[in-house]
Amino acid sequence: MGFFQKFARLLSPQKNVAAPVYWVHARCSRCGEELHARVNLYHDLSIEYAGKQPTYHCRKVLIGENLCFQKLEVRLTFDHKRQMIDRQITGGTFIGAEEEA
Ligand SMILES: [Zn+2]
Repeated sequence: MGFFQKFARLLSPQKNVAAPVYWVHARCSRCGEELHARVNLYHDLSIEYAGKQPTYHCRKVLIGENLCFQKLEVRLTFDHKRQMIDRQITGGTFIGAEEEA
């Protein structure tokens, strides 16, 4: 449980240093609430060495503010240039376009 709480805490609004971020926009499949999460491409990714180039991975758990409590689990995969190459979600669907700052 501590694992999920750790990720949930990352979702709280933070105004810190400008860093490359990847925005996740998703909609809860249960209540329809739109959830947004920011992935810091330098601090939130774990590197994995497999094959020629390493890849970066991030798992986010999104919890809405409604009385729904459904958890949306997002898994992102980035290549060695931190470009998103794969994303999966459970508990909801991806919506909209991602912005990369
Ligand atoms: Zn919901």
